[in-house]
Amino acid sequence: MSRKGLLIVVSAPSGAGKTTLCKEISRALPNLQHSISYTTRKPRPNETDGVHYFFVTQEKFNKMIKDKEFAEWAVVHGNLYGTSKKQLSEMMDGGIDVILDIDSQGAMQIKENWGNGVFVYILPPSFDDLRRRLTERNSDATNEIKKRLENAKKEIPYYKRYNYVIINDKFEKALEDLKSIITSERLKIDKFNTDMIDEKFNL
Ligand code: 5GP
Repeated sequence: MSRKGLLIVVSAPSGAGKTTLCKEISRALPNLQHSISYTTRKPRPNETDGVHYFFVTQEKFNKMIKDKEFAEWAVVHGNLYGTSKKQLSEMMDGGIDVILDIDSQGAMQIKENWGNGVFVYILPPSFDDLRRRLTERNSDATNEIKKRLENAKKEIPYYKRYNYVIINDKFEKALEDLKSIITSERLKIDKFNTDMIDEKFNL
């Protein structure tokens, strides 16, 4: 039944496994797509422009802010990141459920400005675990890891402002939890075209 897409906002401290979870969930569930953010961060070796992010200059990003092209934007770990308003509207108006992998500053902007959304926070089992994961991931330099851990201390307290919390201890379990959340949200009465149902049952 045709309906507007859901907006699922997922945040976590860096290293909690959010990106992998978001990637896997859009493979596991139909009709769910990732929004591709804009960033001024330099691409990592395995990243492709237009797939992982749209990598843009600071000038281009600032122009987009000025032209009000972002649904939300924030400075994260010293780089600018933002979600395109146009991309978001097109997907949702087309009935696609959209998953936003963004930080809590951006999530709070969406909460204030974008009407309804489903807000999911991913936590690691502990701070020590987070430190270990970031160190083992090894894709970032030591001072980058330090910066991400400092940021995590500021980021984590936001979890209370989300609708759902997932503790990512075992990946498969966390993925199941995220699937359950999205499936339940999809089944909510306000997501159905009740006129169409009424018509079908001659109500
Ligand atoms: P990374 O550079 O490791 O890909 O991402 C760093 C952080 O930026 C992650 O927490 C990620 O969720 C966040 N991020 C990615 N895209 C956006 C965005 O469009 N807006 C905001 N606010 N945060 C974003």
